[in-house]
Amino acid sequence: MAVANLDKARTTTVPLFIGGKFVESISGKTFENFNPATNELIAHIAEASADDVDRAAKAGRQAFESGPWPRMSAGDRSRVLRRLADVMESNKQELARLESIDTGKPVSESLNGDVPRAIFYFRLFADYLTTHSTECFPMDGQALNYVLREPLGVAGLITPWNFPLMILCSKLAPALAAGNTVVAKPAEWTPMTAARLAELIAESGLPDGVFNLVHGFGPRAAGEAITTHPEVNAISFTGETSTGQAIMAAASRTLKRVSFELGGKGATLVFADANLDDAVGVAALAAFKNQGQVCTAGSRILVEEAIYEEFLEAIVAKAKAIKVGDPLNPETEMGALVHAEHRARVQTYLDYAKSTGVRILCGGNSPAGAPSSNFLEPTVIAEPDANAKLCQEEIFGPLVTVTPFKSEDEAVAIANGTKYGLACTICSGNVSRAHRVAARLRSGTVWINAWSIRDPRVPFGGYKSSGIGREGGLHSLDFFTEAKTVCVKL
Ligand code: NDP
Repeated sequence: MAVANLDKARTTTVPLFIGGKFVESISGKTFENFNPATNELIAHIAEASADDVDRAAKAGRQAFESGPWPRMSAGDRSRVLRRLADVMESNKQELARLESIDTGKPVSESLNGDVPRAIFYFRLFADYLTTHSTECFPMDGQALNYVLREPLGVAGLITPWNFPLMILCSKLAPALAAGNTVVAKPAEWTPMTAARLAELIAESGLPDGVFNLVHGFGPRAAGEAITTHPEVNAISFTGETSTGQAIMAAASRTLKRVSFELGGKGATLVFADANLDDAVGVAALAAFKNQGQVCTAGSRILVEEAIYEEFLEAIVAKAKAIKVGDPLNPETEMGALVHAEHRARVQTYLDYAKSTGVRILCGGNSPAGAPSSNFLEPTVIAEPDANAKLCQEEIFGPLVTVTPFKSEDEAVAIANGTKYGLACTICSGNVSRAHRVAARLRSGTVWINAWSIRDPRVPFGGYKSSGIGREGGLHSLDFFTEAKTVCVKL
């Protein structure tokens, strides 16, 4: 079936993709998927059980052990990845629209951010295949050591709902480039672009069984079944920290390799020497992009005391100017939160904020006239206590706290003072200070006077509870391969 045809999707079932075939789940069960902007049904999705994961993992194993993919030359694999990128490119508009319908994010972001980036991952790793060499260590004429990178086997990819296509492709491209086969499970709230990708993969000549897609739920369901399946060799997971803990425990039984990109509670540090307009722009982007549902979001703004009140006034004006509305309108800057259940979760933080009497400077409500109650106005809260619940827990919505600091030391201590360590931003006009502070932050990524720009070759991941390992460029290829040392006596 064509996932792109949403009228059809409403009346039929979006299938699983196993062993090169589109199939229903063994149980015949389905679950419903909704458009968060309207709460209307998008599609019925085949619900995979452990039995379906077993089929998918065995299809992946068979394709790995006896199929052409792991044995193909690097040049040939590279050509298939490029073809897939080209097929995606020619379906770019449709993928972007589908992503926005499924997630509630503005279509301008899907079209100019998520989808091109997803496509780029296949081209990047296709390039690595034809340009990257391996390590070699000659030992003074006695011996020669060199390193072979071999695929791991079947890789399990478990992904979240905030950037469904982009995060899936950031893992899928290196996993495939390295010669692995894959069992992927997207988040149950946002399965549509993964389902469409399976159709595009079927068109682009990837051998059967190399990419297998199961839809369904996490705990005690398809997700967990991937993490315990003996044929799955590695898990690359992006999602909540608590889910990472559950996956690590489950995966330990079969000693799988794991890579985790987990939650965050990023800080934007604004020093008095920053250009105020620029800092406000960066801080607002970091707080509200993708409705605040970004792991690297700057959900805490820390502002030097001397400019605190001036900054508050400016960020409130900026937040109020953000155009919230229909995700499919190209002018929209902020769409709906991903799901009614998640909107309700964010509401508990708003209710808590109201109960503590902190200053809610703007936002806090669903905008009047919104097509569903899953929208939330950009919300700015002045919270002087850096240890308060709102400043410690990942809220994952368009709600930002602003906290004053007196000195560079205090700013660093507050920024480092959560269990997370994924990303931080420094706004300063003093180059020495910016570098000094960057070095002191316990954070996998530090931006200076910017947010969220990132070359996909750099390592990406978190300190502390924000993750294990790094993905990106060669770091991803390292994760998805076994290193074999060959030593020959000369
Ligand atoms: P979840 O951890 O709830 O879910 C992520 C994926 O894991 C989903 O596919 C989910 O399935 C699945 N899952 C849930 N429980 C299990 C389990 N026990 N075993 C196997 N799979 C399971 O995260 P969200 O989808 O809610 O995404 C938001 C979170 O992701 C935030 O905390 C955010 O910080 C984090 N994130 C981190 C990023 C990073 O790079 N560090 C980037 C983007 C997001 P199902 O949907 O059915 O529950």
